[in-house]
Amino acid sequence: MTRFVQTGPSLRDPYTADPQLRGWLDRLLGEDGHAAAKQRLADLSAEVVGPLRAAHHDAETHPPTLTRFDAWGRRVERVDTSAGWQAQRAAAARHAVVALPYLPDAHATWGPGARVVQHALLHLWGPESATFSCPVAMADGAAALLTQTGAQPQWLARLVSTAPAVAVTSGQWMTESQGGSDIARSTTAARPDAGGWRLTGDKWFCSAIDSAMAVALARPEGAGPGSRNLVPYLVPRYAADGASPAAGLQVLRLKDKLGTRSVPTGEVRLDGVEAFPLADPAAPGLATMMTLVVVTRLHNAAAAAGGMRRGLEYALGYAAERTIAGGVLADNPLHRATLGGLAVDAAGAFALAMHGFALLGRAEHGDAEAAAELRLAAPLAKLTTGRLAVASASEYLECFGGAGYVEDTGIPRLLRDAQVLPIWEGTTNVLSVDVLRALSGGDGIAPLLHRLTAAADAGTHRRPGVAEALSAAAARLAADAATAAADPRSPRVVAGARELALRLGHALTAALLLEHAAWAAERGDERPALLASLWILRRLGQADVSAELHEHFNQLI
Ligand SMILES: Cc1cc2nc3c(=O)[nH]c(=O)nc-3n(C[C@H](O)[C@H](O)[C@H](O)COP(=O)(O)OP(=O)(O)OC[C@H]3O[C@@H](n4cnc5c(N)ncnc54)[C@H](O)[C@@H]3O)c2cc1C
Repeated sequence: MTRFVQTGPSLRDPYTADPQLRGWLDRLLGEDGHAAAKQRLADLSAEVVGPLRAAHHDAETHPPTLTRFDAWGRRVERVDTSAGWQAQRAAAARHAVVALPYLPDAHATWGPGARVVQHALLHLWGPESATFSCPVAMADGAAALLTQTGAQPQWLARLVSTAPAVAVTSGQWMTESQGGSDIARSTTAARPDAGGWRLTGDKWFCSAIDSAMAVALARPEGAGPGSRNLVPYLVPRYAADGASPAAGLQVLRLKDKLGTRSVPTGEVRLDGVEAFPLADPAAPGLATMMTLVVVTRLHNAAAAAGGMRRGLEYALGYAAERTIAGGVLADNPLHRATLGGLAVDAAGAFALAMHGFALLGRAEHGDAEAAAELRLAAPLAKLTTGRLAVASASEYLECFGGAGYVEDTGIPRLLRDAQVLPIWEGTTNVLSVDVLRALSGGDGIAPLLHRLTAAADAGTHRRPGVAEALSAAAARLAADAATAAADPRSPRVVAGARELALRLGHALTAALLLEHAAWAAERGDERPALLASLWILRRLGQADVSAELHEHFNQLI
């Protein structure tokens, strides 16, 4: 008897197989700017489908371990990680996934667009990085903070190094067991000592605990209560020998997590550990820390968008191979509609994440308008893509049938790893409350509404119902945002914060997809207009577009 053996999904080159990514790079960087990035993107892409995919697998199957004592009882606090994790570490440095926006030649070539190129690198690499994208996010956040404050230049140089032997990553120690969202309850104390500072307290979730440094929040001696009086401190993780733990630092245990299993996430005890303030300890320091948090939230959005696109690639690959009643799965109208919907969502998530990086680049180059827009766009990008990523990952597993539930296919991790995206760096609800704050301060909803109206007026969408869905959504959002801004603490407004934030996120995505569609249509490419229209009809108009998803399937992927 011949036994049937199913062919698994292949992975196409993620750069050449992603027309949306290439189109957005052409628009945001100009064709010359994109051309200047091509070699970098192609080189990384080639590694992603080859050695980095293997390294990813190795890291996933050899999770980190913690050895607290050596055979003689000496405290070592050693975290061992796999060869795959180390290969990802080296690749992150070589491909400048942290460093790019800080490199002088990248500044000269792309200006603020260096952040756009960085997002493209993350989009290609993140899903096959064994979640090394997590320490990369925190290293970038730390680098942005050190760049802004001018503190600790010797650490900054290492964070943004492209030499694997020199480059370091950073942890970010904020969460304590009594409250991750409510950091006002932080009890870690900073006390002055012989001209320096010492930290004492327990940190409950410290990802990438193998990193050389961390940025920890602590309350300086004598500072008042509340979150705003917390100050970020740089904590060297290791002693001068580079291997022993810093004096007073203990890694109590590693978390046994649902996903992100390659990442060593520790619980840490600090008992008088040496630390260096990154803001004036005599003044409220949380605002300084937000520089880091905005960066890591955007990386979170990039991880969500990248994971969704890669999940789609795997599901497409499988659909092309798998035969069901009636023929190849990829030809089945219902499966095509399912995949088409996932493609539209992946396109929306990509637009949000890319927009966030583009705004960040402009804000870092002194563009006040971009900085104001980022205030609302960053939490919207993080929370909207986080929710989309989990819903999509569940569908991707289902696209593989039972194989999607079996560990050694590699598919279940799509769902396990996606679930962290709406939790860390602020849960969906916590970010929704932040959105309420953003609506009631500064420019509020104005930049978003302006984008939406301008994009709608450009008239690229020609499908019935799109214009109506857009204008109804804009009118409702304007009214609801005004109510929320007027009394952001009223229980009715707070209760509706998540629903409002998601609607805002979907509307911003609609505007971004339409902006790109208008640009593409002028160049004879109608595909982005189709994606934008279907996003608007589904997400803003709540319409059933299944038949269109099936009919236009090939244009959506
Ligand atoms: C894999 C992983 C890695 C992590 N790595 C790090 C790290 O490296 N560094 C770090 O500092 N932290 C890290 N975290 C911690 C993470 O940031 C926190 O878990 C998260 O911020 C939530 O805090 P919490 O766990 O205390 O939950 P809580 O704050 O207790 O939240 C519990 C529930 O209450 C809700 N809630 C809380 N406040 C509000 C509010 N105001 N309004 C409405 N609802 C609310 C939340 O939405 C949630 O549903 C990590 C977490 C995970 C899962």
